[in-house]
This record gives sequence, structure tokens and C-alpha cells, in this order.
Amino acid sequence: MQKSNVAIVGAGIVGLAQAWSAAERGAKVTVFERTSRASGASIRNFGMVWPIGQTAGIHYETALISRKRWLSLESEAGLWVNPCGSIHLAHHPDEWIVLQEFAQRAPELNVACRLLNPEQIHQHTPAANPNGLLGGLFSPTELCVNPAEATRALPAWLARTLSVEFRFGTTISHLETLSDAPASVRLRTSAGDEFLFDRVIVCGGADLQTLFPEVLSASGIRICKLQMMSIRGYETGWKLGPHLASGLTLRHYQNFQICPGLKQLTQRIAEETPELDHFGIHVMASQNNHGEIILGDSHEYDEDIEPFDKSLIDRLILRELQKIICLPDWTISQHWHGLYGKHSSQPVFEHSPSPGIHLFTATGGSGMTMSFGLAERFWNERASS
Ligand SMILES: Cc1cc2nc3c(=O)[nH]c(=O)nc-3n(C[C@H](O)[C@H](O)[C@H](O)COP(=O)(O)OP(=O)(O)OC[C@H]3O[C@@H](n4cnc5c(N)ncnc54)[C@H](O)[C@@H]3O)c2cc1C
Repeated sequence: MQKSNVAIVGAGIVGLAQAWSAAERGAKVTVFERTSRASGASIRNFGMVWPIGQTAGIHYETALISRKRWLSLESEAGLWVNPCGSIHLAHHPDEWIVLQEFAQRAPELNVACRLLNPEQIHQHTPAANPNGLLGGLFSPTELCVNPAEATRALPAWLARTLSVEFRFGTTISHLETLSDAPASVRLRTSAGDEFLFDRVIVCGGADLQTLFPEVLSASGIRICKLQMMSIRGYETGWKLGPHLASGLTLRHYQNFQICPGLKQLTQRIAEETPELDHFGIHVMASQNNHGEIILGDSHEYDEDIEPFDKSLIDRLILRELQKIICLPDWTISQHWHGLYGKHSSQPVFEHSPSPGIHLFTATGGSGMTMSFGLAERFWNERASS
């Protein structure tokens, strides 16, 4: 039987996840990437694989599928993957209430987590600020990966082990279905070269303009800009331990929406610190394989997005982080921002504008967490239909 011939547009984590799952099922896969090496959201993030942030049920389970696949990459592709877990820290009574409410519901939701008192927190991390610390929620499922290293190493591994072909420096400017059954899709590059594929999957990240702009502009996808910072690794080899998240984070991820106490917490933050809501700030910290501490973040949308980063946002992020964590030194070595597309209700926007063409994009703030599991679901559904 002839192998199906699949093209992926975009070599960010979403495109790489698609390439991996398709090639494992026997497809002959070609990935087209506009830049000479991936430079989008997939290399600009915290590297947090973050199942705990997903709504319990199918989304959490999908994140756990991703987790398993990330772990397999440690032995198979030699990637650095740290099963560090995470702690949400509570420094305010309403934050502690939300964590307790969540922990109480966790067993029935099949979410692995447990409450920690301040002493137990300090056994996991030297970084938690003891001032006003009431407790925390530990989850063992989070991983830390190095996003730039992983995203840039995976193409070579996919090429070597599954014969995936990569064409970097190639922009796809046009896609067109030539016949429905069997589907045949003509793909044209901006240099005018043309190729035929059975199936094309568009994973263009925050680019909503190049391919199918009319579909994407009507999709409800919003573009989000996030500001981030990092601190160079300490010479002492100091270790952060698990990823750390603040009480502010409880209002950011969907999973905590089931907690009745969230309303009061959200209201208090809106009244006390409206500037945090204005810039969509919640704070988190992770540490990569080079000891660098990655700090963030903010969320500005659509017309509020400017090319210039705001030093006010960085100051607010650091102010909030210093309330919850203590670091040996806070000298910032890098500032950057990233963009992603976010759908209003789904973890990814999936749409087939014509036979053989699939748009698979807008993984919001969870692309590192969800992409591998979402790609597995996508290809399992096609195998069974
Ligand atoms: C600052 C920040 C922090 C984040 N933190 C986390 C985190 O800790 N955990 C987590 O799970 N998620 C996190 N996310 C979200 C995650 O990074 C994204 O969901 C994910 O990287 C999106 O991947 P992507 O492949 O869709 O996009 P991208 O990485 O942007 O890749 C899209 C690629 O498509 C290419 N492309 C586009 N159009 C074309 C075309 N026409 N032809 C050829 N190539 C094309 C682009 O050049 C680009 O390389 C964060 C995001 C940001 C910005």
C-alpha cells in the first residue's frame, strides 16, 4: 500500500507534534517552516508541561498523554526533561481557601495533588517566601523542558528516526484541494515551487494572515502577547525545585474555576491591584537545565499589543514574584516577549476548510503541555474513521 503523503506547515511544537504522530503511523511527512530555525512561541516559553492547569477530564488526560511522550523523549531523543512537579503557593487566606477547595475535589476528578504546610513546602524548595506563607498545593505531574533546545533538536531526531523531511526557510503561500476522494492538495511555496500531498496540516501559530485569513479571522482566535524575563544560573548551583506559581495564577488557569472561593479572590485582586488585571499578570517561575530561572508573565491582547515591551509590566511581574519567592539574586539577564493565538473555548482551533486541508492552531498558553496529546488524538481519530 502506498504511504500517505502528509505536509505540515510550521515547525513549532504543534507542527512537530503532528509530524511525530503522523510519521509514527506510517505517513511520509514533510515539514515546511518559514524561518531558518524555529523562533516562535515554542522557543519563548517557560518550558512548563503543566497538566495541573487543564480542566479535569479530557483536557487533563490529554495533557497526561503529552507528559508521557515528553518523558519518552528523554531516553529516545536525549532531551532534558525534568519531572519537577509544581507548587501553587498561598500567601493570602482566600488563596489558601481555593487550594483547599481544589484539593478536596481532586480525588473525584482524578487529579493527583496534595496540600502542603509551610514546613513541607520548604522541604521541596528553598525559594518559597516564608513571610505570610499559609500553605501550598503540590502536583507531581508537571515537567520542565528547555523549549528552545527541545524545539530545535526535535527536527533532527524526527528526521533520523522517522525519516521526516524538513524544509526550513520555506514559506507556504497557497493551499488548494484538487480532488476530494482521494484527497489531493496542491501546496505552493512563496518561491513558486509546487508539491502535491494527500493531507496538509497548517500549524502556523500566531500567523493568522498568510493562509486562510478569512477562516482564522472569523474563528474567535485572539492574539496574545506575553512578557518574560530570565536570571542567569547561580554559580552555587542553587536549585528552585518544582515550578512555582502564585495565588494570582489561580485566576488564570481553567482548572480552579470549580472552586467557589475563586470569586472572592478574583474580586480582591481586581480591587487591590487593578494594574495586574489590566496587563493580565500572574506570576510563575521555573528553572531550566542550565540553572536559569525563567520568570513571567503578562497577557495583552489584539489591539493592545505593541511591538515595544513595557518596563512597567516587568516591574509589576518582579514586584509580585518578590512577594512569593526569595531568590539568591534578582539580576535579570534577559527580557523578551512571545505571541500566541488563543481560542475562546478550545485548547486548539481545528478546522478543515476543504478536503485534505486541516488548520490546527491556537494552543494558547498550553501548547507545550497539550500538543503531543492533541496530535495523538487527531491521528487516532483519523485511524478509526
Ligand atoms: C511567553 C510564553 C510562555 C508560554 N509558556 C508556556 C508554558 O510554560 N507551557 C505551555 O504549555 N505553553 C506555554 N506557552 C504556549 C506555547 O508556547 C504555545 O502554545 C506553542 O508554542 C504554540 O506552538 P505553535 O507551533 O502553534 O507556534 P509557533 O511556535 O509560533 O510555531 C509556528 C511556526 O509556524 C511557522 N509558520 C507560520 N506560517 C507559516 C507559513 N505560511 N509557512 C511556513 N511556516 C509558517 C512560523 O514561522 C513558526 O515557526 C507560552 C507561550 C508564550 C508566548
